[in-house]
Amino acid sequence: MSRAVVTEPWIVEQRWDLTYQHTADVTTATFLRTLRDDKQLLGTRCPVCERVLAPARPICDRDFCRTEGFVELEPAGTLELFTIMHLAIDGLPEPPYVLGYVKPHGADTALPGFVEGVDLSSDATAVAELKIGREVEIAFREERVGRITDLFFRLRR
Ligand SMILES: [Zn+2]
Repeated sequence: MSRAVVTEPWIVEQRWDLTYQHTADVTTATFLRTLRDDKQLLGTRCPVCERVLAPARPICDRDFCRTEGFVELEPAGTLELFTIMHLAIDGLPEPPYVLGYVKPHGADTALPGFVEGVDLSSDATAVAELKIGREVEIAFREERVGRITDLFFRLRR
């Protein structure tokens, strides 16, 4: 039996529209509550690899062991990666906008967030500003609700 070989991309369009709730573990809840109420970033330290994990999490993703205690992180770090979004996605800002990962000073992993204050008049101007390793400020929204989007990143001039 012969089959026709598909030679072009097979596009399947689907739509997800989910509203759900989940319970944050104690470590994540502490991180989010501290972010909302105190504008303070917390990480946790792994007793095996000694990395400081940000955001605070209960388990080290490298060693699969429980982390110990909280580490206060300063609201500054370095841009580890970024993407300039041109596609509209429900629940996210009108494009273009920048998403990035920033490693807070004193941490070994990075936080996700929006990078604001970037000249998005063209990708070339934006990329010229968005250098990997660039110093950024980790800023906090005026109205915080206990989500990771309570923080955002701002390029240091
Ligand atoms: Zn570890």
